[in-house]
Parts: sequence; structure tokens; C-alpha cells
Amino acid sequence: MRTRITDMLGIRHPIVQGGMQWVGVAELAAAVSNAGGLGILTGLTQPSPEALVREIDRCRDMTDQPFAVNLTILPTIKPVPYQEYAQAIVDSGIKIVETAGRNPEPFLPLFKEAGIKVIHKCTSIRHSLKAERIGCDMVSVDGFECAGHPGEDDVTNMILLPLAAKRLNIPFLASGGLGDGRGLAAALAMGADGINMGTRFMVTREAPIHEKVKQRMVDASELDTALIYRSLRNTARVFKNGVAERVLEIEEQPGETRFEDIQPLVAGVKGRELFAEGDLENGIWSAGMVVGLIDDIPSCEELITRIVAEAQAIIRQRLDGIVAA
Ligand code: NAD
Repeated sequence: MRTRITDMLGIRHPIVQGGMQWVGVAELAAAVSNAGGLGILTGLTQPSPEALVREIDRCRDMTDQPFAVNLTILPTIKPVPYQEYAQAIVDSGIKIVETAGRNPEPFLPLFKEAGIKVIHKCTSIRHSLKAERIGCDMVSVDGFECAGHPGEDDVTNMILLPLAAKRLNIPFLASGGLGDGRGLAAALAMGADGINMGTRFMVTREAPIHEKVKQRMVDASELDTALIYRSLRNTARVFKNGVAERVLEIEEQPGETRFEDIQPLVAGVKGRELFAEGDLENGIWSAGMVVGLIDDIPSCEELITRIVAEAQAIIRQRLDGIVAA
């Protein structure tokens, strides 16, 4: 499949791996890139800009295909030296960056000067148009179904993607709710140039996550996610475990929720331990509604090959057959 995105990024399939905290490490990013998609290292998963440089080197040892780095700018418990992470990305010779969370404008001169293609993740049309206006090369349009931070507008991809197709000139990826060939064919039909998948790549052999977490996601239905931090206007979609339910109870109490009241439950370090040790109630982890569509734990190569083959069959047989009838 050839789209504006495969051409712009130099990849074989229009499938990009989402920038996931604690998951986007060299093993996963390289596996996705080697399978013909675009792997993404998550910048803030590395404890320092120096560690990110080492992770980029490690990824280069594992693949000669293009891969990207994600830089997410959202509230954090500890302050993050974003400018130093951005400089580390540039100094490492990375050519594709995914930004998310906040307007990436302050970083664009640095990235553009270095010839970097910038994909900005947007949860609304107004943010997508702004990203185009300030010079981003493409956007990743993130519907309400997505894992992590869907924004506060709650608009699903059935609406966001056709709107993006009507109003944007730059290429865009569909993100949120994607996990199979039906999703890829539908996203292309709605005008997207490819798809971004996070949750689906968490449930692959190469994802650095304990088997128990992967199996829990295989067993889950589309009803097993929860929206936390609504009261703080930093909404995040996470897997609905006991910890997420306790956070929701605290948020439902009368009066304003203070982040301090939930911080011990949601700290990212607890989520990292959960991924490493498989204790499903140790903290929270991001997951999208697409868990309801996930039934197995394939390798990235198997997954990408299957999704592309399914999408091609849908386009060539089902859709073409309908038109021909
Ligand atoms: P962390 O341990 O600093 O914080 C844990 C969670 O609490 C995060 O979701 C964070 O956004 C939220 N939070 C922190 N301070 C807050 C405040 N004052 N008010 C409201 N919410 C607050 O986070 P981490 O796990 O080390 O991750 C680093 C950052 O990267 C976070 O902002 C995280 O959300 C973000 N991230 C998100 C995605 C995604 O959307 N899928 C992917 C990668 C990273």
C-alpha cells in the first residue's frame, strides 16, 4: 500500500506504532520498523536525554529502517527538561519526531533546521489545523477511542477523520481504535493516509510488558477501559482495573479533586513496575477501547502482515465487489 505517508516516511506499510510510555523501547520500535511500519521510541521513557541517546543507538543496532522518537508534553510529577530531550533527538540524527500533548511550536525551529519531519498528535480538528499552520509535516488524528490522553472534546474517529480529510492539506494518520485490517481499510476510506496503533502493539511478542498484562488485554472487552483525570482536565483512558476504579471514586467525591489525592495511585513508576512484574493492581496503565478487538499475542511482523493483507482483501474483494454489483 502506497500513501503520502509511506512516501514521506520511507516505510513499506502505512502503519505507525504509537509513542507509549514504558513500552516504546528499542526492541519494540525496531521490530515494527523491521516489519515495514514506523517504530517509535518514547523519549520520556528514558530517564535522561543521555539515556535517550543510548536508546537511539541501541535501536540503530537493531534496525536499518526508519524509526522515530516521541516527545510528549503533558503534566508530569517531576519536571522534565524538554529542551534537552529535543536537543538529544536532533544531535542523534533522528529524522522523524512525533510530538504530543501540547503545541509543539517552541520546538519546531530546532527540528526543522535539522530536516526532521514532525508528526503532531491532535485530538481535535482545531489543533490539527493549527499544527498544519505552524509547519508540522503531518498530524496523527486521535479519536476518543484512544488510549492515554483523548483531550476533552470526546469526538470519535467516525467524525474526526472525514473532517480532517475535508479540511487538512497535509497527510494524516488515524489514531485510536485501530487494531485490524478492517480498521486500516476504514481509515483509508475516511481519508487517512495510514494508521497509528498503540494498544494493539502492546499485545505483541516484542512489547516489553509482562505476559499477564498482555493476557489480561486479550481477555478484555471494549468495556474494560476507564476515563480518569476528567476532573483535572487531563483526561486519560486507562485499563479499568481496581486502581482506576479507586481513582474514579476519589474524583467523584464532592469538591475539587486535588492531584495529590490520587498521585500515589497513578504515578508512572507504579505503571512501569506493573508492566515489569505483572501485578495487575500495582498501578494504572493506558489502554484504548480497541482491547475489545484483540484476541492474540502475535509478533509485530505477523501483526503488520496480517493487517495489510486483511485490508487489501477488504478493498479488493468486499468493497470492489459492492461497487461492481
Ligand atoms: P507521571 O508519573 O509524571 O504522572 C502520572 C500521570 O499523572 C500522568 O498521566 C500525568 O499526565 C498525570 N499527572 C501528573 N501530574 C499531574 C497534575 N499536576 N495534574 C494532572 N495530572 C497529572 O507520568 P509518566 O507515567 O512518567 O509519563 C510522563 C508523561 O508522558 C505523562 O504526562 C504521561 O501522561 C505522558 N505520556 C502519555 C502518553 C499517551 O497519551 N499515550 C504516552 C506517553 C507519555
